[in-house]
Amino acid sequence: MGAATRYRKKFLSEHPKCAFCGGNADAKTIEHCPPRAMFQFREWPEGFEFPACENCNLGTDNEDLLVAMLARIDPFEEKGDKDGKQVGLMRAVNKQFPGLFEKMMPTASEARRQNRELGITPKDGRTHQEAGPLKVPEEFHRAVCIFARKLAKGIFYREAGFSFPNDGCLLLNWFTNADFMRDGKYTVFDLLKELSGDAPPLLRGGKFLNDQFEYKLSISPNKNVFVVQARFGNAFGFAVFGSTTPGTLETSIERLREQSQRDGPFAVLQSLTLGEARGKPSGAETSLEEIRQGCRVRQPPV
Ligand SMILES: [Zn+2]
Repeated sequence: MGAATRYRKKFLSEHPKCAFCGGNADAKTIEHCPPRAMFQFREWPEGFEFPACENCNLGTDNEDLLVAMLARIDPFEEKGDKDGKQVGLMRAVNKQFPGLFEKMMPTASEARRQNRELGITPKDGRTHQEAGPLKVPEEFHRAVCIFARKLAKGIFYREAGFSFPNDGCLLLNWFTNADFMRDGKYTVFDLLKELSGDAPPLLRGGKFLNDQFEYKLSISPNKNVFVVQARFGNAFGFAVFGSTTPGTLETSIERLREQSQRDGPFAVLQSLTLGEARGKPSGAETSLEEIRQGCRVRQPPV
């Protein structure tokens, strides 16, 4: 038995249940979340591996690929491709999502308008399309939803020591560096900045990785309500609001829906009563497919 096998057996004996689907399924694999490909030089943070059943581990490969590529987009410091892996990631994305890159490219007039709004003047010899932000097609929204749900559950598992329940509720608000360019800040982080929480250093071999991924967790003492604020380099960030008690967060969303006929700035990642999960029996899990169809992020594409 090799060292990797021994390590896996030991890890899974200490963590016998899947962290991502409510803690009922037996964990058979170790899942890295965030995905390893997101990190430069294959240096991902220690302690971000989780027990997962095969469905939860293997079911998100394409989304992992997309968020890994997205997280490396760095228009400010151009640190996203220090290890030269970006082209390979893009090739893999192009294979799994044919036509996606065309959808990301704004038309010349869209780019001109956007750059005017953002105050971007293309440098000499660059077109507006080359200088401005890329569009974020629906595929990214879905991928970020699936990734955020997984990461929030992983961080919850680390903190609480048990799997996030299937009847709990998770809501997401996410944003990209285009929002940062427009507003000079990430509005959601700004709104939440007074919230106390723990923002741990993320390390591998003593090396800080917070420039690629960092988060702050605010969680109630009895661990039934939490907020994860996460940021991925200079590319994107999100806040996930979670409650293990069914109905707590749903009430706010239902109020928003009544007032405005929409969900506000939230995507429903998991809920027994909201969105695609409506009417499901208690304890039923929102499937990946439901998230893929039901994830509706209310924000304009950038
Ligand atoms: Zn699972």
